[in-house]
Amino acid sequence: CGIIGYVGSENAVPIIVEGLKKLEYRGYDSAGIAIYGTDGFNVVKQKGRLAALESRLDGCPIAGTMGIGHTRWATHGEPSDINSHPHVGSQSKIAVVHNGIIENYKQLKLRLERKGIPFASQTDSEVIAQLAEYYYNGDLLDTVIRVSGALEGSYALGIMCLDEPDTLIAVKKDNPLIIGVSDHGHFIASDVPAVLKHTNKVYYLNDKEIAVLQKGCVQFFNLDKEPLQKQLETITWSF
Ligand code: GLU
Repeated sequence: CGIIGYVGSENAVPIIVEGLKKLEYRGYDSAGIAIYGTDGFNVVKQKGRLAALESRLDGCPIAGTMGIGHTRWATHGEPSDINSHPHVGSQSKIAVVHNGIIENYKQLKLRLERKGIPFASQTDSEVIAQLAEYYYNGDLLDTVIRVSGALEGSYALGIMCLDEPDTLIAVKKDNPLIIGVSDHGHFIASDVPAVLKHTNKVYYLNDKEIAVLQKGCVQFFNLDKEPLQKQLETITWSF
């Protein structure tokens, strides 16, 4: 029930783990992290407490300057390692974290399965990663726009693509998502406390707005791919 993501010049792993800790209050039954690596995503995810994820990360040190993390409150599919987020599509090309519920996932899943795409989990969320890989045409923003058009329900999403090493995309509908801006990189998070250690400058994403984050810039678009001007807010409280 919490999302954190980072793209910048620092190691994303401790930033994401710390951020997940700050989102613990939202409740969760499993947690996971995906770090962009040139030879693929490094994904560590499992049922249970964050401490368990942390000790697994201690055992297999991974590092990278872009990644996404998630705490899950299971709605579709039991709490299990495989059902934990992030979800990566069957081509191992796109990684997704999702908060919310995809109401039409069964129809979408059936359509993709009929095209021979194998699913690994019982979640509604995996369909987002599979659909994104199916639609991907070399432009992750176009892909996210198409995926958003196909999804019914509620979502806050963080998405990375192996072909786009410096780009993290976020979009939301009926679930909260903020964008944090610091001098070493950009963040996505379900809530402000997850990024306050690094910055008090945030944008609040509105429904059906897309944020394209790179190390040195963040751009906003609507679902018609028109650029949006948004107000950078300064948080004056601490957590
Ligand atoms: N519906 C998704 C799942 O069950 C996401 C749940 C959440 O928001 O944590 O995996």
